[in-house]
Amino acid sequence: MTTTFIHGGTVVSATGKHRADVLIDGETIAAVLDPNSVLLGHDLKESADQAIDATGMYVVPGGIDAHTHMEMPFGGTTAADTFETGTRAAAWGGTTTIIDFAIQRYGERVFDGLEAWHNKARGECAIDYGFHQIIGEVNVDSLQAMERLPDEGVSSYKMFMAYPGVFYSDDAQIYQAMRKAADTGLLTMMHAENGPAIDAMVAELLAQGKTDPYYHGVARAWQMEEEATHRAIMLANLTGAPLYVVHVSAKQAVHQLAAARDGGHNVFGETCPQYLYLSLEDQLGAPGFEGAKWVCSTPLRSKHEHHQDHMWQALRTNDIQMVSTDHCPFCFKEQKELGLGDFSKIPNGIGSVEHRMDLMYQGVVNGNISLERWVEITATTPARMFGLYGKKGVIAPGADADIVLYNPNGHTKIGINDTHHMNMDHSAWEGFEIQGHVDTVLSRGRVLIRDNEYVGSKGHGNYLHRGACQYLI
Ligand SMILES: [Zn+2]
Repeated sequence: MTTTFIHGGTVVSATGKHRADVLIDGETIAAVLDPNSVLLGHDLKESADQAIDATGMYVVPGGIDAHTHMEMPFGGTTAADTFETGTRAAAWGGTTTIIDFAIQRYGERVFDGLEAWHNKARGECAIDYGFHQIIGEVNVDSLQAMERLPDEGVSSYKMFMAYPGVFYSDDAQIYQAMRKAADTGLLTMMHAENGPAIDAMVAELLAQGKTDPYYHGVARAWQMEEEATHRAIMLANLTGAPLYVVHVSAKQAVHQLAAARDGGHNVFGETCPQYLYLSLEDQLGAPGFEGAKWVCSTPLRSKHEHHQDHMWQALRTNDIQMVSTDHCPFCFKEQKELGLGDFSKIPNGIGSVEHRMDLMYQGVVNGNISLERWVEITATTPARMFGLYGKKGVIAPGADADIVLYNPNGHTKIGINDTHHMNMDHSAWEGFEIQGHVDTVLSRGRVLIRDNEYVGSKGHGNYLHRGACQYLI
């Protein structure tokens, strides 16, 4: 068994930071030691098989991105990152676990979908991975399948109040699925937007000749998100099912979540970097068809309504618990261009899996969140929310040695192909500069990134058999 000794750094957890050295035995953290400790008379710098100097670095748990869509079919095309390219890009950015979405489409069987996603990911991933299950059709068969999901290590499933005719579930179906989830302990994840009303508004706008990407944001108004969020909370409340609302972007939806949490309900919310930094006016409203790069759902919100500031505040107050990316990359050429002349045909999605740790660290630099909160919202809370904590999300004896050395004196400039590793012909984050840099990344004791070089391999990543949400009250 190879031993690795990380010395001289500052170990940061969700609750504090201290100077400490980390001893890794094989794939697992063996000890977190006071600096310069001597173990059984040995200087570990000398006796470990490999020593990594972390002087000046933050030593943090590997990031967990709990919302990705590798190779996802959508809108007549497929998300551009494979499990191989997407997980390698994630590693570059200090993310060592993803949780992706297996899909049951209308007319398909749940376990066929889950198996299909296992087949896509198996042997391909640079980092560990788990699955949520999308339930695209609620019927007797899929409700029965939900009972068996926990045995497969799938402790969460997702439904859509948007996309009629694709993934949409009506209120009766949501009610039935939530009843089942309350019985089986599954966490219900919800895409909360009023899809039928949105589709009516889309048709109106297109009929008026309003076809630019900007109108994607107009059609998916915040009222549609607030209303659906409230409805999801009420159905969860009625059925006793715990609820996790994905990609929250409207401040009014946050108010609904906060009120439910204040009422003592098991209601949680996630946001994404795009809702913290980008806006309807500056990105979706970019000249010509450029705004297509930022078409995602829920949409970017108006900067004049200050949704972005409110989302940072919600992260500080824990009205929003964590940050995932909703990584769903589409190239501009031939993919985003499917929506030329009709914004409703632009594939929905932004690629960010590589940049989440950096973008959220910039929140520390800017004074929006603390260093400890950065670790909490990117690693510790995702681990607890999705039944991985103990193995993931923490630097402690017995945990998997998923560790990032983050250099606060480094610098990262995000740009196109030569400076990112996602399989995309553009970046939604072009020109963003981060006052920090991912220096070294380990996954289960194996170095993946060092000296600005990828030294991992496809197939290193294991499937994670997840347990239940560890937050329920
Ligand atoms: Zn998504």
